[in-house]
Amino acid sequence: MKLNGYNGEDLYKKPRNEMVENQLVRRGITDQRVIAAMRLVPRHLFVEEALGYKAYDDYPIPIGEKQTISQPFMVATMCEQLRLKGHEKVLEIGTGSGYQTAVLSLLASQVYSIERIGPLLFKARKVLESVGIHNVALKVGDGTLGWKDFAPYDAITVSAGGPEIPKPLLEQLVDGGKLIIPVGNEVGQVLEIAVKTPGGIKIAENTPCTFVRLIGEYGWRENGN
Ligand code: SAH
Repeated sequence: MKLNGYNGEDLYKKPRNEMVENQLVRRGITDQRVIAAMRLVPRHLFVEEALGYKAYDDYPIPIGEKQTISQPFMVATMCEQLRLKGHEKVLEIGTGSGYQTAVLSLLASQVYSIERIGPLLFKARKVLESVGIHNVALKVGDGTLGWKDFAPYDAITVSAGGPEIPKPLLEQLVDGGKLIIPVGNEVGQVLEIAVKTPGGIKIAENTPCTFVRLIGEYGWRENGN
């Protein structure tokens, strides 16, 4: 596993390895590809330079526009639960900083990612290009509608919490495909993993979590509900 524009050597190598050991491995992350990807991706480049020293801490941090970069463990558990092998086409909703996009780009063959806030997407694109990631396509838009042009997807991951699973996303999954999304109210959610089977959609719930709001046609309304 490697990044073409980045050699893994930087001031934050030690905190990054400690993050992987203390926050991921100790809490039960076992997928060696997820672990390798998170050891490699320079998370500090995805936050403001002045916050670089906080980038490997155990919580989400602000990235501007009232949004946050997800906590490392959340990124790891969501990626692990998709059980990616390397050949997949993945759709991500909520690019944000682009950090999880970078991790996914190392775990799958092609990543499509949608962000509703233009300035965040443009920043994410710059960082992804700077570390030599080219198997991602990004667009500004309402991710609750999915991205029909490239459907169906082997896996879909949503990084913002909605009231329910957006229907278009289920439609854009392959048979056997997996979707992971925080579902709940605006105070707290639980990660739901949906698997599309010939007999219908099977949903399991696991980790409690708190994500920013999923805003869109099949999410929350911009102001209020
Ligand atoms: N994994 C990202 C998470 C960013 S926070 C990271 O670690 O940086 C979630 C992002 O979802 C926010 O940037 C927010 O603007 C975006 N978002 C919310 N609703 C959306 C929607 N309907 N479509 C696309 N992006 C959305």
